Amino acid sequence: MAAPSQSPVVIVGTGVVGVVTEQLLDAGIPVLMLEAGPRVSRAEIVENYRNLPLAAKGNPIECYPSREWAPHPEPAGAGKGYLQLSGEDSYAQSYVRYAGGSTWHWAGTCWRLTPADMQLHSRYGVGRDWAFDYETLEPYYARAEYKLGI
Ligand SMILES: Cc1cc2nc3c(=O)[nH]c(=O)nc-3n(C[C@H](O)[C@H](O)[C@H](O)COP(=O)(O)OP(=O)(O)OC[C@H]3O[C@@H](n4cnc5c(N)ncnc54)[C@H](O)[C@@H]3O)c2cc1C
Repeated sequence: MAAPSQSPVVIVGTGVVGVVTEQLLDAGIPVLMLEAGPRVSRAEIVENYRNLPLAAKGNPIECYPSREWAPHPEPAGAGKGYLQLSGEDSYAQSYVRYAGGSTWHWAGTCWRLTPADMQLHSRYGVGRDWAFDYETLEPYYARAEYKLGI
């Protein structure tokens, strides 16, 4: 096999960046992806869900038990207490440290920003406007949605 002529791109984490990775590979650029979490099959995750007690089925993060060496926030198990929050308003966030990341698990709701969302300052006097407008972003939304099967 011929040695690749191009330097490889190294990507840390295997979440939604997989979409970019595919484009690099299609362009003949070698890619090395480093992942902190385990690789687990869909079948195993579905099996985990099936075996959850009824009360836990409302929180699908329970299908992804943390490994001791790659913890993520979860209400019970190895990742319990992994995320340390302080202050009055705790933010109940979650993510998955597995091959595929949270992108392997997400709920599939795909909202776009509206043009007004990108002009909060000029329209409503709060926050900042985006550096470019919705029309510039739109083709990328379309490509991402196509990839995600929307
Ligand atoms: C339960 C749940 C439901 C969701 N539902 C929706 C939804 O419906 N709609 C929506 O828009 N968003 C949703 N989200 C959010 C969405 O899934 C995430 O915003 C998105 O997937 C994040 O992509 P990412 O590539 O930034 O991170 P991730 O997909 O989480 O990927 C990050 C990767 O990096 C790896 N990693 C971390 N640290 C290291 C390290 N030190 N070395 C190597 N690898 C490392 C992780 O293991 C992981 O694989 C949901 C999230 C969760 C948890």
